[in-house]
This record gives sequence, C-alpha cells and structure tokens, in this order.
Amino acid sequence: MSALAARPMRTIGMLGGMSWESSAEYYRLANELVREKLGGLHSARCVLHSVDFADVERLQVAGRWDAAGYLLAEAARGLQAAGADLLVLCTNTMHKVADQVQAAVEIPLLHLGDATAAAVLGEGLATVGLLGTAFTMEQDFYRDRLAGHGLKVLIPEAQDRAVVHRVIYEELCLGVVRESSRDAYRAVIGRLVDAGARGVILGCTEIELLIRPEDSPVPVFPTTRLHVEAAVERALAP
Ligand code: GLU
Repeated sequence: MSALAARPMRTIGMLGGMSWESSAEYYRLANELVREKLGGLHSARCVLHSVDFADVERLQVAGRWDAAGYLLAEAARGLQAAGADLLVLCTNTMHKVADQVQAAVEIPLLHLGDATAAAVLGEGLATVGLLGTAFTMEQDFYRDRLAGHGLKVLIPEAQDRAVVHRVIYEELCLGVVRESSRDAYRAVIGRLVDAGARGVILGCTEIELLIRPEDSPVPVFPTTRLHVEAAVERALAP
C-alpha cells in the first residue's frame, strides 16, 4: 500500500438528535478515540442523521412507537445509502424500536444494551442500578436486553424515577446542567446502592453530562462513551 493510500476504517452511521446534546458527544468522542488510536490527524469516518427531537418526543408521549420506529428506520436507510458500514442509535430509549431499525438495513446496528452489559460484566459486576427515561427504566425492552446478558437490574422507586425522567427532558436535553439536579441524582444513586446495586448504568445518553464517576460510591457506566467505544472498535477492526 502506498503511503498515500487511505487507512482502512469503517464508516460509523450515527442516528442522532435524541437529543443533539448527546449526539454532539458521540461525534466528539468518536473523533477523539480514533485520534487516540491512530494518532496524527486521523479522525472518525462517520455520517450523521439528526432528527428533530420534538417529533420523536411527541410520538413517545403518545405511545406511537411504530411511527417513531418508521421514522428512524427511514433515517437508517439513508445512512446506509450514504455509506455507513455500521449503525449506532444514539439514545437508550429509542432502542425500544431497535429491531424495527435493524430490519430496515443490511448493516449491523450496535445495540447500546449489549455494549453496556459487556462493560458491566468486564468489571466483574452482576447487580446494577439503571437510570434513564421512564420508558427505559419501567418498560421491558432495555432491562430484558441487560438481563439477557445475566445482569440483575434495579430501578429507582417511583418518586425517584419521576425526578430522573424530568431532569432528562426538562434540563439535560435542553443543555441545562444544574447542581441541584446533580445532588438529586446523587441521592437516587445512594438509594440504589443501599438496595444492592454494585454499579450504576447511566442509561440515558445525556446523564453523563451531569453525573461523573466521583458522584457515585460505585462504578458508573456512561452509555454514550461505552457505545462510541464499541463503534470505534468495530470501525477499526481488521
Ligand atoms: N437520550 C436519551 C436516552 O438515551 C433520552 C432521549 C430519548 O428519549 O431518546 O434515552
């Protein structure tokens, strides 16, 4: 291969905008990780489809998951047509329709739950708390995916779930990071640890904008970073 030949790297298709606050992290982290691994001016090959989150949130609240899945499946097709070799759906919540998205394309969708479970198991942990939107914490689609890897998943009590959910939609997805909300999350994490959690999954891609490792007495698992790490690893694999 001549010195001018392009280095082999797969193109990551990012299905984002849910919210763009975390999609921006996906983009930044992917580029930083590729630079770390390859050095010099290397950066991530990627294409991004960023939706209007207001459209998706309306469908979530109305329980119209099929329609949301259709919207994301169309976007996934576009990413594939634009040259993506693999897909990341940049939100935990919308993994509710991951199968619908995957069925629309031939390229692989890297499931966020799988990347997260691998990280938890890699730390030798089996019982974890899960923070995320009410959809992610209360419905089966995400917890079952984790349980499929042998994890025992604890979720906060109803009042705590309401706080965690509200902060995501009313603050973090709008770029607002409040110390009072960090304190509230710390308290929720404390109660999960009291209930037996040995680690806590930050199961919403914006939570790591608020919660850092030092905010928790047990290891935290930041899903945006873990997802990007898995995507970059796949993109650079021989
Ligand atoms: N980004 C969030 C998540 O990871 C919430 C936004 C959404 O509902 O997609 O679940």
